[in-house]
Formats: sequence, C-alpha cells, structure tokens
Amino acid sequence: MDYFGKSDALTEHKYYPIIDAHIHIRTLKRALNQNDVLKQSGLRGMCIQCLPRLSDEFLTNNVNSMLLKLLLQGEIYSFGGFYRPEVPAGAQTQNYLQEAEQLIEMGCDGIKMYDAKPLVRKELQMPLDCEAFEPMYRYLEKEGIPIMNHVGDPANFWDGDNAPEIAKQYGWTYDRSYIHPENYFKEVSVVLARHPDLKMILAHFFFLSVDRPRLEAFLDRFDNAYIDITPGTEMYIDFTNEPQQWNEFFAKYQDRIIFGTDNGFFGEKCYEIDAMRTFLEGERAFDAWEMHIRGIGLDESVLRKIYYDNFKGIVHEPKIPDLARVAKEYKQALEKALKSQLKDDLIEDLNDARDVLARLGVNL
Ligand SMILES: [Zn+2]
Repeated sequence: MDYFGKSDALTEHKYYPIIDAHIHIRTLKRALNQNDVLKQSGLRGMCIQCLPRLSDEFLTNNVNSMLLKLLLQGEIYSFGGFYRPEVPAGAQTQNYLQEAEQLIEMGCDGIKMYDAKPLVRKELQMPLDCEAFEPMYRYLEKEGIPIMNHVGDPANFWDGDNAPEIAKQYGWTYDRSYIHPENYFKEVSVVLARHPDLKMILAHFFFLSVDRPRLEAFLDRFDNAYIDITPGTEMYIDFTNEPQQWNEFFAKYQDRIIFGTDNGFFGEKCYEIDAMRTFLEGERAFDAWEMHIRGIGLDESVLRKIYYDNFKGIVHEPKIPDLARVAKEYKQALEKALKSQLKDDLIEDLNDARDVLARLGVNL
C-alpha cells in the first residue's frame, strides 16, 4: 500500500471528525485495506461511491459496499450505482426508479451517478435531464436521498495532446465526438430547477475551479447543489493561484462543500488525505501531486463543516444493510458476472462476498 508516496505535506494534524465522502472500491479483499486508511488517517468514516456503470470491473461494488458497512471500522456509507445495460440501446428503457428503490431498501444511503462521465455518456447517450431518469429523481427528492454526481471532467481533458498524463493513461481524452462540457452544465441546471428539494453533490468541484464566478452563480441559484473537493488535482493549482479569493469562496459557501478523496480508485493511500488537510488547514507552501501548492488556512468552524457536518446534514446516520436484499443483490451481480469478460475475477470476488454472507448466517 502506498501511504506516503507523493506528498511532502506530512504533518501531525489536529483531530477533527472527518468523513471521506468519496472513496471507491474494487474487490472485497482489496477494499479491506481501507481499514488501514481509516486508522492511519484518523478518519471517522467513509462513503463508498459505487461504479457498476463505469465498467464490469465495478460490477460487485453494490454488494461489496454493503458488506464493508459491516466489516470496516467506522461510519461507513454507500451510494449505490446503476448497472450498465446489456445492450447500450437498453439504457433508455432501464427502470432507474426500481433500481434506486432496491438500492435504498438494501441499505444504500444515496445514489452515485456516473452517466455524465464523458466516456459513459458517449456510449449510453443518456442526458441527465432525459425522461428515463425523471421518476427516479422524483423518488429521491421526495425521500430526501442525495445523489453524488460525476458530471464532465476537467476542461483540459478536451485539449488533445496537451491533456494531462492521467487523462491519457485512462483513455479520458476527448475529441469532438464527445459531448461538450457546456451541455452537462445545462442538463444539471435543468434537473436541479425541476427538483428543488433534490440534493445533489457535484463531485470534483463540478470541474468549475477554472471559473469561480460561474461556480458562485451556480451555487447561488441552486440551494440544493453541493460540491466536493475530491481532486481533480488541477483545482488545487487554481486555488493556489488566487488564495485570497478562494479563501473567501470557502467561507461564503462553507455549508455546501464536502470533503472527499477518490481513495481506492488509484490505490488505497493516505497521502491524499494528508495533502488535502495540509492545504485546507495551513497556509504554507508544499509539494503534493507533483505540484507546488499553498494552503488556504481555513477557520476551524469552516473545517468542521467541510470535514463532517455538511455530509451528515444531508446523509444522517449510515443505514444498516438488509441482508435478505444484499443476498438478492449478490445473485443479480452473479448473473451479470457470468456473462462478463472479467468473469473469473468477478466470480472470485463474489465467492468472498458469499463467504462473508455465510458467516452472517445468509446461505446462498
Ligand atoms: Zn470518484
């Protein structure tokens, strides 16, 4: 595990209750490493963002996230994710309301949407404001259940050869065949206007750290919108370039910003948390993510909200999984795994899930 690889921020941080509201998992076995992250970083909890829509690799996320609520030591939350349709054309007829209801009844605390990640969008062709999502939005709005939504990507992923290395490495560089970020902004605005009580967290600062006035206007217009500070390391350069303005921004929108790291997506690691805390809490210059950044030194009252209170205000106490429904979810994942090219790995992972369920008295 990579704890201290890329940041020279390492400092003793003061204790605050912190929930990392944006982590990812792959296999159950590997996800148990998150216990070390919880312990080493002194976190009080984590929220797993499930990604079955991204690729088959994440097909076991929903079921495993339920088991991790029982296996990890802390306040563990899960935002369940929709499955990919078997044929891309089936995306429009997928019953998102039913899927969301099942996920919530099973024990998910919210819904993760990944439909506006450009490569998913290109394949599925589902605008966020399309009719197929409407019953699901209405249900979540009525029940007070939040969505964590990854919408778009950093602007420079559309820059061809100038796109950052990480974008090239993961195939996240976009030409004109991909929807332009402007469309995403419009779609989110339509959904939030239609559903004023639907709480939506836009991941990675909604990729708008490049345009602070626009982000301010967006947050002023929609009380139901929140943003998380999960890197997008580019946003920390934007913050560093205008420390005074961003400090004011963080103070002004202190009730709308949520702490998250993407931990587990690129590995289970602690330096992300350390670097972000050094940035938020201190004012010194330091190196992180191979960049020079400078902290913005937020007030303690603001830190407490970003680290914990804002997330708890939306999501409340973590739900306890309903094991009968977890067993049903396991069977659904298994059925899909059997048809996948990643079948062998997925079955191995699901066998681990089955063993945990058996220990809990659920025999499949
Ligand atoms: Zn993420």
